[in-house]
Amino acid sequence: MAMATTTIKQVLHYQPEHGVWFAANQALFNRVAAFYFEVIQAHEKVLTLSNKEALTALEKLTHTTQKNPTPVMPLEEILEDIPAMFRRAAINAALGSARSFHSHLARWRKRKEKAEAKGKKFHERPPVPPRTWNKSAILYVGMWKERTDTSIVMKVWTGTWWSWIKVRITGRDLPGAAEMGSPSLIRRGNQWWLHTPMEKQFKSPGKIEKQVTTNAHTKMCAVDLNINENLAVCTIQTVEGTILATKFIHGGRRISGFRKQQLGRIARNRRKTGIIAEGEQDNVHLWNKIRHGDEQVAHVVSARIVQFARQHEATILVFEHLGNLKPAKGKYSKRGNDKRAYWMKGRIFTYAKYKAYNAGILTSRVNPRNTSRECARCHSLVARYNTGQPAEGYISGAPLVFCAQCGMKGNSDRNASLVISQRLITRYQKAQEKPPTPLARERAEKSAGVVISQDAKGKEEPSIPQAGHGETNEHGTAQDVSLRMEKCTSDILCQLRLPLE
Ligand SMILES: [Zn+2]
Repeated sequence: MAMATTTIKQVLHYQPEHGVWFAANQALFNRVAAFYFEVIQAHEKVLTLSNKEALTALEKLTHTTQKNPTPVMPLEEILEDIPAMFRRAAINAALGSARSFHSHLARWRKRKEKAEAKGKKFHERPPVPPRTWNKSAILYVGMWKERTDTSIVMKVWTGTWWSWIKVRITGRDLPGAAEMGSPSLIRRGNQWWLHTPMEKQFKSPGKIEKQVTTNAHTKMCAVDLNINENLAVCTIQTVEGTILATKFIHGGRRISGFRKQQLGRIARNRRKTGIIAEGEQDNVHLWNKIRHGDEQVAHVVSARIVQFARQHEATILVFEHLGNLKPAKGKYSKRGNDKRAYWMKGRIFTYAKYKAYNAGILTSRVNPRNTSRECARCHSLVARYNTGQPAEGYISGAPLVFCAQCGMKGNSDRNASLVISQRLITRYQKAQEKPPTPLARERAEKSAGVVISQDAKGKEEPSIPQAGHGETNEHGTAQDVSLRMEKCTSDILCQLRLPLE
């Protein structure tokens, strides 16, 4: 079984003094967590235990009871009568930080040893334990009750006593089918939020390697991300090479224009105010606007990629590694815009990855080298050119490709997405080193000059679902320009069909 987690974020509505209480509550939570971090530092062996055993051991070291009247490091020195569930949440927070710190430390020691063994000087500084604590208080069961869609009753430290308060909630309702984790009290600016993790169990998808090497009908959704108008171009392809659908996700010009407008405003404001104070962000509002725009587009595009993959029952999502941002030429604002577009590409990948996982789809990345320059049909170098221009040369970012070797013509981003999914297949087939793989066979047939129609293929392997043309194409998809055909029988087949989105 696999687990998917989402966090439901809800706004809390409370009286002004409750805001002060939430802050006092969080401050106490951090004092207690920091205290336990110290206890763990003094008793490092605790870290070799499981979380449950560690909790018991740490309570024995700190918690005064009749059976345990004189603990080594009493928690009472911080505050008496801390509720057990408050204490336990803080202990687990401290354990998490301590485990992370000690594994960093162990890795640092290893690197140091290695360098010294080779006689090299080692300049890297050791990791330091947290100097300040700014964790959000987690409310274990016992610290809250009577939760509905619109309210919750919570026990908080007011600064002087413990109090139960009822608070109104607005925002997304909790989904019914998932299991609820412990909510956290989160401060964002002056507003307090309730974040609730929701866990959903589902059947784990098979490993990508297994899917690719054992089932020729496994469907992959390959995605070419761009910073031009086509933010994402997705194609659905089976492992044995049938292309089932293509989708162009537009909107690059719009978000780029939006950024350009905001960056222009920032530049004008800066000219007006002159020198910018060091270490201080100027034009905060405008920068936030840009960031929110990028975030929103990343969420929408990633959601549509995953939706498209699900529609076609793809079980693998393939991207290319993003590589390094090439230093762009041009004006400052153009470079700034490109930098953000590039950052947004990374966001689209990250969001698509977790959204896909929640849908039982695994994500992989392949080597990005020359994915745009290679012909998806015959792997020769392609010409890339603009509409209305001769099909020769290579203009980076131009919308059309032509392969002089095999005659393939089409949209360059779509071609790139096909190359991306083929790379994933090749990777695992190479790893297996079994010669009669589906793709290799297909290539052999091609080079023998046999025209394979979808129908003939369908008879040979009757179990291919949806292999035929047409029926799976909907609005927003471009029809298959069939890479499996030996040569294009008409120019129409070879031409790009842009969706009317
Ligand atoms: Zn070609």
